[in-house]
Amino acid sequence: MKVVLENLTKIFPSRDKKAGKEVVAVNDFTFEIPDGQLVGLLGPSGCGKSTTLYMISGLQKPSSGKIYFGDDDVTELSTENRGIGLVFQNYALYPHMTVQQNILFPLQNLKGKDKLSKEEMLERAINAAKLVQIDELMDRKPSELSGGQQQRVAIARALVKMPRVLLLDEPLSNLDARLRLQTREEIRRIQKETGITTIFVTHDQEEAMSISDVIVVMKLGVVQQIGKPQDVYDDPKNLFVATFLGTPPINVLEGKVLDGKVYIGDEAVMSVDGVEDQNVYIGIRPEALEPATNGVFTCNLNNVEVMGRDASVVSSHKNSVNPVVRAIISSDIKVDTTVATVKYNIKPHKFFLFNKETEKRIYFEVKNNG
Ligand code: ATP
Repeated sequence: MKVVLENLTKIFPSRDKKAGKEVVAVNDFTFEIPDGQLVGLLGPSGCGKSTTLYMISGLQKPSSGKIYFGDDDVTELSTENRGIGLVFQNYALYPHMTVQQNILFPLQNLKGKDKLSKEEMLERAINAAKLVQIDELMDRKPSELSGGQQQRVAIARALVKMPRVLLLDEPLSNLDARLRLQTREEIRRIQKETGITTIFVTHDQEEAMSISDVIVVMKLGVVQQIGKPQDVYDDPKNLFVATFLGTPPINVLEGKVLDGKVYIGDEAVMSVDGVEDQNVYIGIRPEALEPATNGVFTCNLNNVEVMGRDASVVSSHKNSVNPVVRAIISSDIKVDTTVATVKYNIKPHKFFLFNKETEKRIYFEVKNNG
């Protein structure tokens, strides 16, 4: 089922009419989510991702704009009539009911033509439990399950009604690091097996990038960029997107373009075509910096952190916006830590320029490094 958002906007009125301004939680969001895809809505706290999900679910009414499931306009439909499955961060299972009763619960409320016989309900509940691999635990109460198992019950309960669209709001936040990893892979597997169009809200970029077909990066209610995770990482449209995606984060430095050369301080680090002289922000991914004795970009060397396969060269530069300039290299490469400075060469395809005022990406042709 494709999901279409058309100029979707949500404005919350100010609580204090005199002092406060209204909040534009979601601003003119237009997007067509193709059938069967897993879409990650991603952004910092307060960017409007939950509000977007709540509007798609029907829990909140848009101030303007439309929502379609396939060709059906569902904008005015109640949550119950949209055919969605919802999973929240706190699993909200009924503590006095067994796993089986929890999963059966949504089916028992079906009325009219949707009403099912006892046998049909049980068959559906068992199928949903099998899908999330908790069919062995049907007689347990939620308190007798791990966090990850409880979250699977919540997913089974959302799937049992065979929803047209599955909506997940930070479903992994309450899990520890290992379970998060495991459960996110489970969600991906279940989503692929069922083929249900799924929209997933998270503030964790790694989580979104690892399981989504498409990510939507939001900031202050405005969509910044939509695309395949790797495409957005490789080709960010603005400084916000570049800094939001990537661990460790991209290095950001102040610099300038003069006569076709990009300068950081006094050093020309890249020759480029097609850019006017101007002050810029320069984004360099940590994996783009390669220590080299004849490198073009000199930093003060702080230390080298070896982490198994990779090593992180931690350095600093007076033009850096962040406290450190970090390079990620193979731990096989040895860096002399007895010297005060480190020189880097820069891989041009991981080197981005942004306008100093608008913070929009400036595109260029590389002539040569340095
Ligand atoms: P988080 O990750 O912290 O949940 P979010 O990206 O999901 O954040 P939303 O919950 O969608 O953000 O909120 C977007 C903006 O709308 C925020 O500025 C928030 O304060 C505001 N907001 C949300 N709900 C209401 C409400 N009921 N009344 C007024 N303002 C609200």
